[in-house]
Amino acid sequence: MLSRRQFFFAEWLFVLCVLLTLGGYLSYSAHQDYQRTERDELARLAQQASIVENNLVPQLAATNKALLSVIEDLPRWQQEVDFRQRLIRRLEVLNAIVPGVRTLLVVDARGEIIASSNPGAVGSRVTDREWFRLAQAGNSPQTLYLTPPFKSLVSPTSVAMVRSLAGSKGEFAGAVFAALHPDFAKVLLSSVVNTPATFASLVHANGTVFASTDDTLVGKDIGVPGSLFSRHRNSGQSASTHIGVAPAIDVKRIIAHRTIQPASLGMNNYLVVGVARNFDAVFAPWRAGAALAAVMFGALALAAMGGLALYQLLRLRNAAEKVRAESALTQSQQRFSTAFAAAPIAASIARLKDGCFVEANRNYERLFGWKREEIIGKSSVELGVWPDAATRAPWARAMLEHGELVDYETIWMHKNGQSRHVSLSAALTNVDGEACVLAYATDITARKQAEEQINVLAFYDQLTLLPNRLLMLDRLKQAMTMGERSGYFGALLFVDLDHFKVLNETLGHDAGDVLLQQVAQRLGQCVREGDTVARVGGDEFVVILASLSSNQEDAAAATEKAAEKMLAQLNQVHQLGGSAHSSAASVGMTLFQGLNTSVDDLLKQAELAMYRTKETGRNGMRFFDPEMETAVLKHVALEKSLRMALQAKEFVLHYQPLVVGAGQLTGAEALVRWQHPQRGMVSPAEFIPMAEETGLIVPLGQWVLETACAQLAQWALRPERAHLTIAVNVSAHQFRQANFVEQVLGALKLTGANARRLKLELTESLLVSNVQDTIEKMFALKAKGVEFSLDDFGTGYSSLTYLKRLPLAQLKIDQSFVRDVLVDPNDATIAKTIVTLAQSLGLAVIAEGVETQAQKDFLASHGCHAYQGYFFSKPLPIVQFEAFAQRA
Ligand code: C2E
Ligand code: CA
Ligand code: CA
Repeated sequence: MLSRRQFFFAEWLFVLCVLLTLGGYLSYSAHQDYQRTERDELARLAQQASIVENNLVPQLAATNKALLSVIEDLPRWQQEVDFRQRLIRRLEVLNAIVPGVRTLLVVDARGEIIASSNPGAVGSRVTDREWFRLAQAGNSPQTLYLTPPFKSLVSPTSVAMVRSLAGSKGEFAGAVFAALHPDFAKVLLSSVVNTPATFASLVHANGTVFASTDDTLVGKDIGVPGSLFSRHRNSGQSASTHIGVAPAIDVKRIIAHRTIQPASLGMNNYLVVGVARNFDAVFAPWRAGAALAAVMFGALALAAMGGLALYQLLRLRNAAEKVRAESALTQSQQRFSTAFAAAPIAASIARLKDGCFVEANRNYERLFGWKREEIIGKSSVELGVWPDAATRAPWARAMLEHGELVDYETIWMHKNGQSRHVSLSAALTNVDGEACVLAYATDITARKQAEEQINVLAFYDQLTLLPNRLLMLDRLKQAMTMGERSGYFGALLFVDLDHFKVLNETLGHDAGDVLLQQVAQRLGQCVREGDTVARVGGDEFVVILASLSSNQEDAAAATEKAAEKMLAQLNQVHQLGGSAHSSAASVGMTLFQGLNTSVDDLLKQAELAMYRTKETGRNGMRFFDPEMETAVLKHVALEKSLRMALQAKEFVLHYQPLVVGAGQLTGAEALVRWQHPQRGMVSPAEFIPMAEETGLIVPLGQWVLETACAQLAQWALRPERAHLTIAVNVSAHQFRQANFVEQVLGALKLTGANARRLKLELTESLLVSNVQDTIEKMFALKAKGVEFSLDDFGTGYSSLTYLKRLPLAQLKIDQSFVRDVLVDPNDATIAKTIVTLAQSLGLAVIAEGVETQAQKDFLASHGCHAYQGYFFSKPLPIVQFEAFAQRA
């Protein structure tokens, strides 16, 4: 077997071999093509050259014949008178019939033209012409002289064929001359030039081009050493082919030459026909083919190699992934079995289709007492370990099949028959291709028991084991709902033991507890089943009598009867740790029918009635009377109208003068008043606490601040009032607002009041809670010029420590001390102490509630010179205050 690595290389080797073979074959066949192309071209060119030869030789032969015929006839004609005319006539005829002959001449021995096919030439001398000298020198009638190409003034480049004339004694007698027509030769050459970049030329043996399809060559000498022509000439062969660069034009050519020297003519020289074609043109198709093949081969090679590389890469990756997946799978399997076996809670796996166990872990064995082997292959129904399987199992299965996780609490049986509360978490899993349920069971038996206990604790009073307030409320709601359906009246009784506190204090708490237990028991004896006795507070019990009657009076009578019974029971002597004790209770009762009244209201009604009983002599009972509620309702109504009073602008500020010395006005305390449309002026003592409770104090306080500041701003415009300050009371709730500082600064900014004229009155109780917040707020406002006065000083929890820390300006002696300052030495001491304290802290001090001259004098004699009180003035509406200020 090949290793993976070897296989890898083998694949490459194979592909490379295939490519090499293909490449080899392609280059071989390209090479073959090349050679064939060359061979074919050479053959074609050679053939074309021979075509030229085949056409040229008869022409040369014809020309030669023409010359011979002149030579033959000449001796005869010389005898005749019209010798010249005949001769000319003959030349003209020959010129016309022999193709390719341009001019025919006859010259005498001295070189004078005696006849010509071209009449203008007669009489001219040609002694200087080479052909003449040649003919003269050679003087051989057998020789046909072929002149090198020449050019005269009147004629294009030509070659001529010349034969010498012999006299009667064999002496040189002149020559016959026939110039060949280059156009004719060119036509001949053109006839074979039928492919592009092909050229044909006729060249004299000396290398001069006589005729050519390339006109630029005509007359040129191409016989230079190294030229294609000279190669042919040097080869000595009559036909040759060559490939090479033509030096004159520097173009690579492929060429076929053929020497034309017909043996029968006895020509002293020869002509060479050359047919050439540009190398590039010849091989262009081959090159294109070769290039195409190369490109295709390249592409193929790339594709093959790329394909192989990609294939190998994918294979590698797949292999790696497979390995990874396999190891992940085994790992996860291992992990699962470990997790399963080592799970800290009981775990089991059962087949989904029949519930038979396939696996159980150690904790399962421990929790339910079954050995793994005992349960495997059996279902929980068979084993009887799941009592509510019949109802639960189908539901759980349906959930699981929907892909849900199942979580519920149920009871599973221990092998020993004991039940265990378990919390189950089950999920569908796959074991060896089979759908199974993996279930984790947590033992919650202990928790369940605790829950039951908590239930008892939560809903039952531990001392008397009666329902507690919570359960009582629940039962009351039930009774009301029942009554709503049946139309029956029920009753709620509030039972409060009389003087229980005293008993507790005199006999001790244990005795108190025993009494409560006995009371609970006795009350329970007085009610029917379905009624409720509950303990809702220390010595407070509530009894709910359900479904008494559909008739109100009957219901009331039944309630009264039950209450009487209870009181009678309670009044009997109790034995408390050896001593006899009789107890009494006050009972308040109220009836309810369905849900007409809220639970809260019912309880309030019963409680109110109970209080009324207490007020009127205890140990008795009383029904709730709607009039009792009027007071409560009044309170509620007040709260409601208070809410609307702000919007209705029912509040006004009164100003109580603050004075110093003999009565000099320094400012005022702003005191809010509520002008109730029905009730008239309501005292702040009545509504301020309510405003605090409901949070309304915040907007109300803000209104007071803004109104007071507006007043300050107004006074600032009048010189005689500009110095007056206003003290504004700030309640705790208001001060605790996170944005209190912003609210005050906002009021100042809104009105444009001078912060230095504003004084805020805080109470001690406000200061002690959350001291840090208090200090921060006070400092922030003090920084703007606002001053603080400590109101009602002496009634709270004054502590020197915080007094020192706070940026206070003034202490205000509470009016309760001032009131009795002259009669109660205690109050006098307190007042004096406060003055001393203020002095030692560097604070100002003012006494409020000053009603008499004597009080004022006393305070003054002890160092307090600032006052507020009826002695100077009551709080006044602004108009009256202005009048007061005018007088002062
Ligand atoms: P306070 O701040 O101690 O105000 C002084 C109270 O004593 C005022 O009662 C005033 O009328 C009364 N008083 C002044 N001089 C005498 C006097 O010589 N003899 C007697 N017997 N009483 C005098 P008022 O106006 O009924 O205010 C009661 C309380 O309501 C105030 O006690 C203050 O705690 C609160 N309050 C009044 N206005 C405001 C307010 O705008 N905001 C807040 N938060 N509380 C306010
Ligand atoms: Ca005050
Ligand atoms: Ca006060």
